[in-house]
Amino acid sequence: MPTHAAGWAHADGALRGPSWLRPPTDPNALVPTLWSRTARKVDGVLEVGGVSVSELVAEHGTPAYVLDEADFRARARAFREAFADYDVFYAGKAFLCTSVARWVAEEGLSLDVCTGGELAVAQRAGFDMARVEFHGNNKSVAELRRAVEAGVGRVVVDSFDEVARLTRVVAETGTAVGVMVRVTPGVEAHTHEYIATAHEDQKFGFSITAGDALEAVRRVLAAPGLELQGLHCHIGSQIFDTSGFEVAARRVLALHATVAAELGVEMPAMDLGGGFGIAYTTQDDPADPAQLATEMTGIVEQECRVLGVAVPHLSIEPGRAIVGPSTCTVYEVGTVKEVALDGGARRTYVSVDGGMSDNIRTALYDADYSCTLASRRSDAAPVLGRVVGKHCEAGDVVVKDEFVPADLAPGDLLAVPGTGAYCRSMSSNYNHLLRPPVVAVRDGASRVVVRRETEDDLLATDVGDQS
Ligand SMILES: *Cc1c(COP(=O)(O)O)cnc(C)c1O
Repeated sequence: MPTHAAGWAHADGALRGPSWLRPPTDPNALVPTLWSRTARKVDGVLEVGGVSVSELVAEHGTPAYVLDEADFRARARAFREAFADYDVFYAGKAFLCTSVARWVAEEGLSLDVCTGGELAVAQRAGFDMARVEFHGNNKSVAELRRAVEAGVGRVVVDSFDEVARLTRVVAETGTAVGVMVRVTPGVEAHTHEYIATAHEDQKFGFSITAGDALEAVRRVLAAPGLELQGLHCHIGSQIFDTSGFEVAARRVLALHATVAAELGVEMPAMDLGGGFGIAYTTQDDPADPAQLATEMTGIVEQECRVLGVAVPHLSIEPGRAIVGPSTCTVYEVGTVKEVALDGGARRTYVSVDGGMSDNIRTALYDADYSCTLASRRSDAAPVLGRVVGKHCEAGDVVVKDEFVPADLAPGDLLAVPGTGAYCRSMSSNYNHLLRPPVVAVRDGASRVVVRRETEDDLLATDVGDQS
């Protein structure tokens, strides 16, 4: 052990991070569960897809999102194979570009989009529109028209306004469209627990308990051109077990059976949404797709038996669980600052050349991440560090707590795993930073699939005084 003989935790005034955080047993190794499948360290240097990040950075600069294509495809395939009888919709909002849309298609998945912009990416990628599902709580008439004209497989309606709007759109365009009705099953899923409630005080879906969901089904059935496929629910995100899905599925299936009994309509399909968790740190222990599939199918089949209805054709919408672990963000360390805290402990602030503009999740959701020194070996003792960005904002934190080598210095590369979902897709130009590129790696080669923004991109919309 290269660590100080007394150990980090025994040093006077040593800073103890969160209770789950342990110093690394080998700081020059990766914790495999946090990294994409091809990631490894070769003499301290991180290698992904057979490409050393030092070489990748020499070519593409920092910060950069490094996307492991084999990992993405393997996770997509794992969901498709485990949920073989389902339709698996990749939730494009987690991360979408034309390359990823093509990989999704090639791996046999369908695609879920929730704005005209995401639909545009799918169209640009040549995605089969019949396998696209259109979500969103406030789709505009223009977005609905575009989706219907493009021939999307189904629109998930989310309000009475939208049912009326979509009815007008299909009347105008003269085309029918598949429809699912999004319902709120009264389950709030949190990372490690779920809360079952009668009502959900949130913007999505139709309430089952208030009767809105049944009324929405009635209106869709009565609307010419709207072809009802079934009910849809999505209970949350970064969920680790199926207990929340179980409560939700029971409530949604009860409504499904009510529709059959009261309206005489056996809806052919049902969508159970996404939300499957991934490991951001060693505290997370996600289930694999095969286990999820077995449990979820068992729950639905059992409940259908009890209700005496046929099992509808099921679908799911994983986003994070497919793209999240596929990507790491590589930053360059700019400054390292030791800060004295109350009680004499010191925290090492490591500033990198990105931050909340390329990863807002820590600031927005209090999310946990980890990181590793990616450009060299170090045998220095681990110290508790906090990785922060370069924005003018004290809350600009990327990794709240992680052990980093005490000799971490400007110019070192630092890599943060698990940044594939909701990082690039939620990125911003705060402080007029340029969004990093997405560099795909595979079989020893790297290629840019989304290029780095330039100052010209940044200034392109600034039209100035027009007088
Ligand atoms: C966000 C979302 C998903 C994907 O969630 P993940 O946590 O990324 O799996 C799926 N369906 C709907 C309706 C969503 O809003």
